Amino acid sequence: MRRISLVVAVIIICSSAIGILTYPRYVLGSSEEDHHFVGAVGGENEYNRGQAPEDWWGQIEQMHGHVGPWNVLGWRIGQAALREFDTKWGRHELDVICYVPIKTPYSCMADGLVIGTGNTIGRLDLRLAEVVSLDFIHVCIRRKDGTGPILIFRPKQTYLRHIDAPKPEELEKLSRECSNMAENDLFEVTRTMPSEAKK
Ligand SMILES: [Zn+2]
Repeated sequence: MRRISLVVAVIIICSSAIGILTYPRYVLGSSEEDHHFVGAVGGENEYNRGQAPEDWWGQIEQMHGHVGPWNVLGWRIGQAALREFDTKWGRHELDVICYVPIKTPYSCMADGLVIGTGNTIGRLDLRLAEVVSLDFIHVCIRRKDGTGPILIFRPKQTYLRHIDAPKPEELEKLSRECSNMAENDLFEVTRTMPSEAKK
């Protein structure tokens, strides 16, 4: 009798463990098998209650420690992406991949993208990818559901060289300048429609 109880207990423990290991995929809002990787689901739902900051400048400063032109460039690209894809801050409908040399100030762009879109590294809808030099910096954005085009936001080389290695005393001036410049002077946008995106 005791042996039977032990077997039953083992079965219960094992099945609970299997349940716990598989359950979080659903709890965390996995986008499931029909997509290329498992990240948070987008849209207006319980997983996406974030609100766009009223003071984006202050929010960058609070989160990142300072506001620099690389932050603001990321913020501008994020805002342009929301507009181009007709979505809203914090809805998490976009996948954003930031291709930069993995060192500051270049990587500061990523935090600008966080504040500019609501996407985050922890949700897997903002990712960093390494390029070998400033010449190859770009941000690649598409819809998580795979529909529509892929947009490549490529900063202008003349502008990147203008903000490369900014001095601390120049940060505010360069940041204000970046927030006021025309998008065309900051980056160009190219669209591609890959075959896998046709649905
Ligand atoms: Zn920085």
